[in-house]
Amino acid sequence: MKKIGLVGGMSWHSTLEYYRVINEQVAEELGGHASAPVALESLDFAEIRRCQLDGDWAHAARLLTEAAQRCERSGADVVIICTNLMHRVAEEVQAGIGVPLLHIADALADRAGEHGWSRLGVLGTSWVMEEDFYVGRLARHGLEVVVPDAADRREADRVIFDELTRGVVTEESRAAFVAILGRLRDRGAEAVVLGCTEIELLVGADDTPVPLLPSMRTHAEAAARAVLGERVPA
Ligand code: GLU
Repeated sequence: MKKIGLVGGMSWHSTLEYYRVINEQVAEELGGHASAPVALESLDFAEIRRCQLDGDWAHAARLLTEAAQRCERSGADVVIICTNLMHRVAEEVQAGIGVPLLHIADALADRAGEHGWSRLGVLGTSWVMEEDFYVGRLARHGLEVVVPDAADRREADRVIFDELTRGVVTEESRAAFVAILGRLRDRGAEAVVLGCTEIELLVGADDTPVPLLPSMRTHAEAAARAVLGERVPA
């Protein structure tokens, strides 16, 4: 097996899920006691959050690159960043390591292609919905992207940082997210990318008729395939 490097802790609530899904997939494929060789670098999310709020992406890029380098030094063959938003610095991280970085948007585009979806809603933090590093990367795979209106984007960002990344899950926010998913569907989204790795802790397929493309699970499954020696989506 290949060793996977996880740059996590953003937040740790979803990094736990990555670790679980990667190992479940490997165990399912290989059986017995098989589990994934993993190097985990779990960062202090408070420091990352300060960088986001200060717009200090250069400092964030340094922190994530150093973490990815530590993964590589411990033998990782492939590295992933366990958050959508922090792919804002993915290019810097990739430039700082000698092994492939499996980009979350590439894993999502791959999966969308398998389903035959070409018009996707994206729900996540403000930066993910509003900046090119994420939506543009999906578009370069030939996908059309629909994002929520400004009020829904504000509400999604608020719930993510006030609640989900602190491990808080409420019925009220679940209902709010289900309503936003419905509005994206009404505007022509064939499926909606849950483009924040904690949203899967709040809503799932049982909560809404809208087809979902969960970023944490999709990225973790692609990572498990990389561990098993399969192709890394790019
Ligand atoms: N985990 C979230 C994401 O996937 C947001 C947390 C963060 O990285 O700031 O975008």
